[in-house]
Amino acid sequence: MTFISKTPHADVVLIGGGIMSATLGAFLKQLEPNWTISLFERLDQPGLESSDPWNNAGTGHAALCELNYSPAAKDGSVNPAKALLINEQFQLSRQFWSHLVDRNLIGSPKGFINTVPHMSFVLGEDHTRFLKTRYEALKPHTLFRSMEYSEDHGQIAKWAPLIVKGRDPKQRIAATRAVEGTDVDFGALTRELTTYLGNNGVEINYGHDVTGISRASGGGWDLSLKYPKSGEHGKIHAKFVFVGAGGGALHLLQASGIPESKGYGGFPVSGQFFRCTDEAIAAQHSAKVYGQASVGAPPMSVPHLDTRYVNGKRSLLFGPYAGFSTNFLKNGSYLDLPLSIRPGNIIPMLAVAKDNMDLTAYLIKEVAKRHGDKVEALREYYPEAKDGDWELITAGQRVQIIKKDPQKGGILQFGTEVIAGRDGSIGALLGASPGASTAVPIMIELLQKTFPKNFKGWQSKLKDMMPGYGVKLDENPDLAVELEQATAKSLQLEGVSASR
Ligand SMILES: Cc1cc2nc3c(=O)[nH]c(=O)nc-3n(C[C@H](O)[C@H](O)[C@H](O)COP(=O)(O)OP(=O)(O)OC[C@H]3O[C@@H](n4cnc5c(N)ncnc54)[C@H](O)[C@@H]3O)c2cc1C
Repeated sequence: MTFISKTPHADVVLIGGGIMSATLGAFLKQLEPNWTISLFERLDQPGLESSDPWNNAGTGHAALCELNYSPAAKDGSVNPAKALLINEQFQLSRQFWSHLVDRNLIGSPKGFINTVPHMSFVLGEDHTRFLKTRYEALKPHTLFRSMEYSEDHGQIAKWAPLIVKGRDPKQRIAATRAVEGTDVDFGALTRELTTYLGNNGVEINYGHDVTGISRASGGGWDLSLKYPKSGEHGKIHAKFVFVGAGGGALHLLQASGIPESKGYGGFPVSGQFFRCTDEAIAAQHSAKVYGQASVGAPPMSVPHLDTRYVNGKRSLLFGPYAGFSTNFLKNGSYLDLPLSIRPGNIIPMLAVAKDNMDLTAYLIKEVAKRHGDKVEALREYYPEAKDGDWELITAGQRVQIIKKDPQKGGILQFGTEVIAGRDGSIGALLGASPGASTAVPIMIELLQKTFPKNFKGWQSKLKDMMPGYGVKLDENPDLAVELEQATAKSLQLEGVSASR
């Protein structure tokens, strides 16, 4: 057998070269510079699966525009708690990225993050009432102080002309806008992070598939590797393994056999986007405009019309149109879903199938949508959109978490979940939302769960990297403003004045 890994042992093995592994690697490199780290990615470059800029929407999720983070309660009121949490999590990501930029560990921020105002946009009486209530619930909080609200066609047209032009002037519309929203190219950021790792002693292996994982007799894990280009196989031993394989994580977690993985299943949702690369059209829209989800739609299928910056080029994106495929990865296999069914997760999976008829109906409707229906959906946001200016592209796969539930047998969960082995020698990430935007707080949670002893000793370093770490910014408005302005400067983003 040929050992295709250059080293037979590493302190840490990162499986997958997406934003999550790259972020965890960047943390570990700074917290424990002497640990040996190897990264294995099955594709030929980093960030080509969900983290690729055209496989996701690139929204820096800070709850400035996504209505699903603050739904209306039965009495019509809006609780801002979840929106505040998401925003604070994104502030932590901004602080970590600023730390890396300020120390020249990664390149120019313009290559991966740009200011794009975030807007929510709704039609009709009921949705307008909801949006106003949401605005009033969020506006008093420092992190949402820049938010503006309008029901006026003229004002909304100033913010985003394409969504108003050609619309019936009598139509009831309403919008909010937060100028400091961002578009993030998570693929470019992943490349920056992996380059930093590669330049600092991390062994980076592209084109390497991790095909198996089993407990090593003397502790740690033995990983089986395959290099499909040459057919070579190999093995590496690791003290600690991060299963950062995105949609591929469930299979590897199941293969590890850890009790904490039992009962988990995956429900894949595929998607498509419309993309417009016509520079003259793209120049007329500078916003990410998020609407309301249709009945039964999963929260991440809310339609939005976005400005995107990818490889320095500005373009527009609309979608997503949800679909169903049994792949867990875009570059995966139709067998992914059937092969993930185990005696331990069959009951939760059946319970989810029974209890989520709305979602099933929604997906069937989405899959049945013809091209013309998709263009009509686009015209709800951009009434004068011309079919010929847009191309349909396939987005990444999202594998939603199915897990055991004592009452229902099984539930479908739309967030992310960190799974950690009891002895801390293995950690994994399942799920997809809010996703890449919160890679930093998610990887901190993983470090806390898998390295509880070291974690205490890392506190001052973490605080040094992210001065807002461990602080509730909503309760510390002066620090919130200070950090927001400092990170805006480092990341070359639009700042928000303290009093706005
Ligand atoms: C349609 C869509 C829209 C989204 N929009 C947003 C958004 O607007 N904002 C946001 O913040 N997030 C968004 N997300 C979520 C975000 O893209 C993901 O949360 C994030 O990219 C996940 O990163 P990851 O590193 O876990 O996974 P990935 O980027 O998928 O990386 C996992 C890597 O592991 C590799 N791999 C898998 N199996 C193996 C194996 N056995 N051996 C070796 N390598 C392996 C894969 O090839 C892949 O490169 C969106 C996702 C989708 C699908």
